[in-house]
Amino acid sequence: MTERVTMAHGAGGTAMRELIREFVVKELGGSGAEVPLEALDDSSVVEGIAIHSDSSTVKPLFFPGGDIGRLAVSGTVNDLAVIGARPLALTCGLILEEGFPLEDLRRILRSASETCREAGVHILAGDTKVMERGALDQMVINTSGIGVRGEELERNLREVRRYREMRSRWLLDSNLRPGDKILVSGTVGDHGVAILSAREGYGFETEVRSDVAPLNGLIREALEVGGIVAMKDPTRGGLANALNEWSEKSGVGILLHEDRIPIREGVRAACEMLGVDPLEMANEGKVVVGVVAQKAEEVLEALRAHRLGREAELIGEVTDEFRGVVMETSPGGRRILPPPYGDPVPRIC
Ligand code: MG
Repeated sequence: MTERVTMAHGAGGTAMRELIREFVVKELGGSGAEVPLEALDDSSVVEGIAIHSDSSTVKPLFFPGGDIGRLAVSGTVNDLAVIGARPLALTCGLILEEGFPLEDLRRILRSASETCREAGVHILAGDTKVMERGALDQMVINTSGIGVRGEELERNLREVRRYREMRSRWLLDSNLRPGDKILVSGTVGDHGVAILSAREGYGFETEVRSDVAPLNGLIREALEVGGIVAMKDPTRGGLANALNEWSEKSGVGILLHEDRIPIREGVRAACEMLGVDPLEMANEGKVVVGVVAQKAEEVLEALRAHRLGREAELIGEVTDEFRGVVMETSPGGRRILPPPYGDPVPRIC
């Protein structure tokens, strides 16, 4: 039997990670870079420069709260920002289907440009290809980007080292240690539900809008406070996937408090109807923050002071009592939050 690619291989969960490990890393890894491909972190680092690449395939292209242009720019800016880098410049590769309306293309590029302005970055290189009608579903955008170290990262790390040892010069998935606190910058699941509500055939309506946004401004404010050891944007596979990656790569347990995780009523209702877990739904404008306990309250305040972090919460802590992610559902009640096989919704980003 010849094995083939499935939709799950692109859905951000354990299936995708297996494909990346068994194929991409095996064939392309081994650079010896400061943060190499095989770290499978949000960005890699070479000669002090952070580098990231992301392709957007979202369906539909326009959805409540955003579009593929805003998504493409935000996705790359955020993955650079969460390892502590200052996003500097992006590239934009367009692959278009023959027959694609030029008016839609202009709208998407304008939105990408506005999002760049919001993030303070520029697109400095690009490429355009067209494929025959039917060979591609409308369009794919690839955005790659580079980022550099800023003083706020240095100050943040100095603050961490006042309280505990930290060898890494970047905010990597492997940096968590028992005692660290876990924050989230706002409500989870908004993007996934907004995308579903915009698709035909799901038969539900909701006020929920995608949270898609560039987070480098919010993240910079948090770094100015200091004490942050790791950050991650919980995109495909949602909070459940992000925290399980942290647990695995840091070799620690994460205890979550269910009642502290912010979830919009509309997201909760939609997920219940569809039989999916809001913690596995994608976010495109949220960041999870691991911070030394002594600075957790201060970083939380800094997040809440920013317009993109008003609903930030402290949702859990890192422990050496177990491995994996465990959720306290009520005082005394606990359940394991497993890594999702893939995001419940295909083509959300
Ligand atoms: Mg990421």
